Amino acid sequence: MLKCDLHIHSSFSRDGESRIEEILRQAERIGLDAVAITDHDTVEGASYALRCETSLVIVPGIEVSTRQGHLLVLGVSETIPAKLDFFETLEIAHRLGGIAILPHPYHIWRHGIARKVKGSIGMVDAVEAFNSRYIVGTANRKAAIMARRYGKPCVGGSDAHHARFVGFGITFVEAEPSCSSILDAIREGRTFAGCRMTPLQTYTRQSLRNVMKKMRRHVVR
Ligand SMILES: [Zn+2]
Ligand SMILES: [Zn+2]
Repeated sequence: MLKCDLHIHSSFSRDGESRIEEILRQAERIGLDAVAITDHDTVEGASYALRCETSLVIVPGIEVSTRQGHLLVLGVSETIPAKLDFFETLEIAHRLGGIAILPHPYHIWRHGIARKVKGSIGMVDAVEAFNSRYIVGTANRKAAIMARRYGKPCVGGSDAHHARFVGFGITFVEAEPSCSSILDAIREGRTFAGCRMTPLQTYTRQSLRNVMKKMRRHVVR
């Protein structure tokens, strides 16, 4: 089971505070297996990360600002233009072979799409059911409930804009440590989304079951 943070912003985002190197060192330090670099409207951060020396699996991505809100796309190496219609953006994402994920779908201030575009959850490949930047959990819970209703895989991410928050949102993925294996597993729903309750370095493969038990209240499938 791989521990992945699938939603991270670097200094390639206009509001990102940490350099890619700081993000990678933090992710390595806390024991993550993979990170997705998902800067706002650019894949430059992700491309840069792919050229860095690291033991982590790098999943390239982008958080696209559509006219109706944010759409997270994993597995693309081309920048998808901003400010297009949600449906058009989704089509481009799929044409490029990417996985389209609705991030923070029910967050009112943070460009959540699900309230604005009816049926959007049914059209994406996965739903971000845990985003660590929520202050209250209701929007996360609603995202998890809707994902289950539509039979969509759930993922979790920190949405970190500073390296110290990397790993605060996690997706446990049943995959081999490679980008393509992780992307396949997300598509096929072999994921658990959750939050970081204790320092990750205390998680071991043997104790994962106990950790999952402790996290039950915060874990969604
Ligand atoms: Zn966002
Ligand atoms: Zn974000």
